Amino acid sequence: MPKVAIIRCEKNQDECPLTAGFAALKSRTAAFKGYDEDCDLVGVFTCHCPGDSAIDLASILKNKGVEVLHFSTCLLLHLLLPTCQLHKRGGFCESIDGIIERVHSETGLACVKGTAHLPKEYALQKWG
Ligand code: SF4
Repeated sequence: MPKVAIIRCEKNQDECPLTAGFAALKSRTAAFKGYDEDCDLVGVFTCHCPGDSAIDLASILKNKGVEVLHFSTCLLLHLLLPTCQLHKRGGFCESIDGIIERVHSETGLACVKGTAHLPKEYALQKWG
C-alpha cells in the first residue's frame, strides 16, 4: 500500500510521457518518497480545462482502488523553475489548488501536489 494514481495536465500530454514520474515512483523518490514496497500505480488520467473533469476522473480512480492521487509536477513548476525546458510550452495551472481541494473534498481521496523532479525549496503539499 498505497495504491496511487497520477493526474496530469492536457497542456503537456503531447510533450511528457511521464517518464520521470514513473521512475520516481519506482525508486520511491521525490513525491513518492516514503512509500513502501507494495506501493503500486493503478492509473493515469489527463485533466482537461477548466478542470471540472478532474472530479469525475478522481472518482473513477477511487473506484479502481486508488488511495492517493498525485497531480503531476508540471502543474506547479512553471513559476518555480521557469527555465525548465519540460515546461516551456505550459502546463502550469493557475487553478490547481482549487481543483485539488475540490477533488479531495468531493471524493475523499488523499491528494499530493507533485510527482517527480521537485525543486529543493518546494515543501510537498498534501491534502488528507
Ligand atoms: S484545469 Fe489546469 S490542470 Fe486541468 S487541463 Fe486546465 S490548466 Fe491543465
